[in-house]
This record gives sequence, C-alpha cells and structure tokens, in this order.
Amino acid sequence: MVDTPHQIHLSEAEMPTAWYNVIPDLPSPPPPPLHPGTHEPVGPDDLAPLFPMGLIEQEVTGERYVDIPGEVLDVYRLWRPSPLFRAHRLERELGTPARIYYKYEGVSPAGSHKPNTSVPQAYYNHAEGITKLTTETGAGQWGSALAFATAQYGMECEVWQVAASYRQKPHRRTMMELWGATVHSSPSELTEYGRSLLAENPDHTGSLGIAISEAVAMAVADPNTRYALGSVLNHVLLHQTIIGEEALLQLAKVGETPDVLVGCTGGGSNFGGLAFPFLREKLAGKMSPVIRCVEPAACPSLTKGEYRYDFGDTAGMTPLMKMHTLGHGFIPEPIHAGGLRYHGMSPLVSHVYESGLAEAIAIGQRECFAGALTFARTEGIVPAPEPTHAIAAAIREALACKESGEEKVILTALCGHGHLDLASYESYLSGAMVDYDLPQGTIDAAMADVPVLT
Ligand SMILES: *Cc1c(COP(=O)(O)O)cnc(C)c1O
Repeated sequence: MVDTPHQIHLSEAEMPTAWYNVIPDLPSPPPPPLHPGTHEPVGPDDLAPLFPMGLIEQEVTGERYVDIPGEVLDVYRLWRPSPLFRAHRLERELGTPARIYYKYEGVSPAGSHKPNTSVPQAYYNHAEGITKLTTETGAGQWGSALAFATAQYGMECEVWQVAASYRQKPHRRTMMELWGATVHSSPSELTEYGRSLLAENPDHTGSLGIAISEAVAMAVADPNTRYALGSVLNHVLLHQTIIGEEALLQLAKVGETPDVLVGCTGGGSNFGGLAFPFLREKLAGKMSPVIRCVEPAACPSLTKGEYRYDFGDTAGMTPLMKMHTLGHGFIPEPIHAGGLRYHGMSPLVSHVYESGLAEAIAIGQRECFAGALTFARTEGIVPAPEPTHAIAAAIREALACKESGEEKVILTALCGHGHLDLASYESYLSGAMVDYDLPQGTIDAAMADVPVLT
C-alpha cells in the first residue's frame, strides 16, 4: 500500500500557467458547429454578437496550450491550486484495496469548478470593452460563478434563472445579488420568447434551454453586452483543464497514476477539465486510465441520446452542434442535480466518446445520494448533488476492487460542495427522493423535433 497523505498540496508557485487544448492530440478533430439557417460551418463573425474575439479564438484554436493571462492567474490564486485528497477514510469504510483520490473544486468562492471559466470569460470580455454579461443558470451554480467573476472586473451581470430553481433556491439568488448581479426568473416578461411561454402557462417552471434562449436574445440586442455559457463549449472545457493539470502534478508528487478516472457529466466541463490532461498522457503512452463519464439516469445524453446536430437551446437560436442529445425540446424530470439537467453533451466530450476514448454510464439519484452520505460521513465534505454521480461511480469501482482484490487507483473530481443544496439531502434522508424511469417514448418525442440535415 502506498502511504500517501490525506491532502496533497501544490504551492502557488507550482500552479500551471497554461490551459491544455486536447483537439490537436485527438485522432480527428470534432465536427464544426453549423449556422442554424444556412447549415454552413459558423465563422468568427457569426459568433461575434455573442462572444468576444479572445474567446472565439480559443473556441477554434489549434494550439495545444493557451497561456493563462496574469490577471486571471491573480484571481485564480484566491482559491487555487485546489487540494487533491486521498480518501483514506472512505476506502477504509468500503474495505477496498483501491486507492481513491478526489480533486476538490468546492474551495472556490462560488463553491464549484465554474469560476475556473467564469473568471477568464469575464476577463476577455472586459479586455474588449464589454460592460455587461448575460447568462442562464439552472441550479444557480453558474450564475453565482459569473456574478463573482464580473464583480472582479467591475462589470454588470444579468442572470436568467430557471423558474423552478428561482423559487426553490432563494439562497443561490441572494449569492448572485450580493456579488452585484440582477436575477430574473425564466421564462421572463423581458423577452419575446419568455412572454410567449408565460402567455401559454403563467406557472411555467422553465428549463435551461429556455433560459439560454432568453439570455442570448438579450445579449445580441445590445452592442455592449455579450453572453457567457458555463459549460459545453470548447473554450469552457479549455479553461477547466487547470483541474486536470494540477491533479497530474499532485499525483506525480505521490508517485501515482490513475487506473480509472470518473467524472460527472452535465455539459461535460468538469469532466473534460479533469480528464483531458490525463487523456493527453494516455495518448502519449505514459499511462492508460479507463476514462468514464457518469450521467444521471433521468438525463442520459451520452448513453441514450443520439449523436447528431442539434441546437444548444430550446428556441433554436444557437448554432447547431454535433453532440449527444436527447432533443433540444427535452425537459428532464426534476432530479436534484440541476447542473446535470441539460439535453445535450459538449461536442468535444461527445467526439471523445465517439472516438472510443471515454466510456459512459448512467446512475439513478438514490444510489448517488446513498454514496454521498457514505462519503460525507467518512471524508466529511457534503458533495453537491452533481458530483454524487461521480462518487457513486467511484464507490462502484472501489467495491469491484474489493471483490477482485485489485489495488486500482481511482481519480475523480469533487466539483462542488452541497451547502446550498441541503434540501436535496433532506429529501433523501426523509425517504421522499425517487428515481425516474425515462421511457424511450419521451426521448423519441423530443428527438422528433431535432433538425434533419441534408
Ligand atoms: C454546473 C455543474 C455541473 C455540471 O456541469 P459540467 O459542465 O458537466 O461540469 C456539475 N457539478 C457542479 C458542482 C456544477 O456546478
């Protein structure tokens, strides 16, 4: 047995100073996004009303490494490098010979990995004179991360929060407001699309896809405003690779390489951020971890969705992206992991999966919360509902090692804490939490609206 400490730290001086772009190392590049009208590949000019050039360049870059600007590193240092923990107590509780490591991103101001990208996104917009960012938020994690980031650069921030979560998560809204953001319930009266949905149903509970449509519509209407997306896009995954780059250095300090890497996938950003630097090492023949995505059984875009071009939003305003999708009109059941309730999967993660470089499994939420309880009672940290999926998968793997006697090294990301998600734990502890079946008919109905490209 390797005797590693509980916390494996990096000093500030050891923090990586470049993000890693996996695309040039893949056997083939991912298919390009297409214009929703012409179905031709989108160019920088098509994206300019939405994003600043600094981010558009990162979206399409062929460079393997992108230097992190000094002003971004300065903000990262508020919480980075983040700790890597060896889960000694969880291992003991499970009686497994496996060694479990988790990279903890809950130490950020917003409590998740999302500030790794909200900070550079605010920075590049600010550098080009943009004064305001709009966005959507489901669980409230991304909205609070962007509110924190815009506050660092003195920018305005306007957030469309999915109505169901706006009502159920007033504390997330307060967090966004205390960092200076304005928060609207979505659908809202502020956009034509929102008004049309409210006219049909004044109690509309909203969805991420709808909130994206609203935030995009508001951004394109104002030349000083741009839109920010918290997951899915290449530049977001690029920024998140700081997680995996740090984890590589930390594991090297204790002489370990992972045999299995698991991450929860909503839009794919914390997973890609952890996995891609390890995938680089794997493609270079330096290690050979199994890389596994874990998604909720109620929103299984990789394991049950189709790989084809679809919209990123419900109204069909975004470019068409080739991705695993359940259909842009798909509204998942109200599972507690709000950050995993997205109909599509990042085109880059989808492509990596199609290329056979990653596997995927889906797990129901009750097994996830059972795992989270075991984790909290041993390691102490209360996980956000999303990474309970990664924890449940790590526990499955560790228990398989107990059966087989294999001493595998398991690595995962604990991408956020659950201090503002205690209602979901209450639901689990009281026995009220249910698992949802996802009938094929529901998927087929949503897929019927996905455009057919000729
Ligand atoms: C947003 C969020 C997710 C899902 O997004 P990914 O892009 O798949 O990482 C997962 N976990 C937490 C804590 C989140 O805030």
